[in-house]
Amino acid sequence: MNQGIQQQLEKAYRPNCRQCNAAIGEAHDWCDAARCKTTGQQLIQCGGERHEYKGVDYGEHEGECGPNRYDGYWPGTREAIERGWYAKFSSAHGWLKTTADDPDASTDLNRVHMELEWSPELQCMIDR
Ligand SMILES: [Zn+2]
Ligand SMILES: [Zn+2]
Repeated sequence: MNQGIQQQLEKAYRPNCRQCNAAIGEAHDWCDAARCKTTGQQLIQCGGERHEYKGVDYGEHEGECGPNRYDGYWPGTREAIERGWYAKFSSAHGWLKTTADDPDASTDLNRVHMELEWSPELQCMIDR
């Protein structure tokens, strides 16, 4: 792995979930960072018992609705770093693509959600 990517991953790594304190490999406690382990939707939107959220009906799905396991990163962060996907906000132009060495760069989580898909087996986002 490229050394820059390794460094970025180390910087982003947290041994416990910032929201619910889950350790690596533990399921999130239905916190904001949790994804549905079956659909990859943000869990509070996917629903569990609640299939409607903020006026949108997410419907029922096959398989269990419940929190995924914490893997050391805010959802989508590892996937973005590994692919070199960064963005920065410009008041004139909105979100712009940039690179990891840009001091204003943040990981492009939006792109992760647009271009990748959830793998229920791996419990992370993968290439379509
Ligand atoms: Zn959590
Ligand atoms: Zn679900």
